[in-house]
Amino acid sequence: MPSEFELIRKYFARPATSALLGAGDDAALLRPRPGMELAVSTDLLLEGTHFRAWDEPRQLGHKALAVNLSDMAAMGAAPRWALLAISLPAAEEAWLAAFAAGLFSLAGRFGVELIGGDTTRGPRSICITILGEVPAGQALRRAGAAPGDDIWVSGELGGAALGLARPAHAAAAMRLQQPEPRVELGTRLRGLASAAIDVSDGFAQDLGHLLESSGVGAVVQYDLVPKFSAFKKLEDKKFEAQCVLSGGDDYELVFTAPQRVRAGIEAVSKELDLALSRVGTIQQGESKLLIIDQERKPIAVARGFDHFAT
Ligand code: ADP
Ligand code: MG
Repeated sequence: MPSEFELIRKYFARPATSALLGAGDDAALLRPRPGMELAVSTDLLLEGTHFRAWDEPRQLGHKALAVNLSDMAAMGAAPRWALLAISLPAAEEAWLAAFAAGLFSLAGRFGVELIGGDTTRGPRSICITILGEVPAGQALRRAGAAPGDDIWVSGELGGAALGLARPAHAAAAMRLQQPEPRVELGTRLRGLASAAIDVSDGFAQDLGHLLESSGVGAVVQYDLVPKFSAFKKLEDKKFEAQCVLSGGDDYELVFTAPQRVRAGIEAVSKELDLALSRVGTIQQGESKLLIIDQERKPIAVARGFDHFAT
């Protein structure tokens, strides 16, 4: 059986190029570029809670990093470095090789360098910490939305929830297992968006967090919310609304922006070839989210994901 250090060397330690010092010492050394702030975030994935023992390890490597990249996107930060803390019941080399392949393939696409971590025997869990750079003062926060701002959503919502409910639906299952973090969009929204958040726990819940941080309310028109295309054929409106408004794991961005930058945002959408939909308006007053149908009647929304809700 390979030792802990052999496993690290074989699967995770890669020579550093952008870090001053990468994996292999007691700590990595980083130097952000002049004028940049560091955005730092971490996410823990547990077997049985966030993934299942039989999930494809390659997709898991992708997803573990993707959820962290999505947090960078939501801050308008360019991801640069990652740390991986992983616990495994045994030195399963085939599993590790596939996991590392999925992780490094996504990391390579965005120029993210794995600069360290920790490897331990135990129940399977994956914790990635990500560091990104954002020009000083330009990070996109949850606070910042102002009355009259438009509310925008990237891509389509509900696909991951559909994939969870109907794993046989291949396209929906892909949305769940291999989400695409909106990294370029995040960096392009600097100077345009007034606030942003990524959809990890459900559109209504995550937009709710943004509203609370900003101290504002919102009205959203359900028919304008972009829905995963397969819902059209399913013709189950109740299930659709539940997936679209309360389903987690989509990793799209929800952001607000003043009306005067509409053309700028539409230009970004064209350039990135990524749909950006204007779904509602920020309102003055308490942090209430009103989602209305075509007759302007309110739609009741189920609560999004919460680990401790009973
Ligand atoms: P320490 O005893 O100081 O915690 P370790 O023996 O755990 O160091 O790790 C040795 C080196 O390998 C460190 O630089 C650490 O960052 C790196 N490392 C350990 N596990 C991983 C991993 N899963 N991915 C990337 N680097 C790792
Ligand atoms: Mg260690």
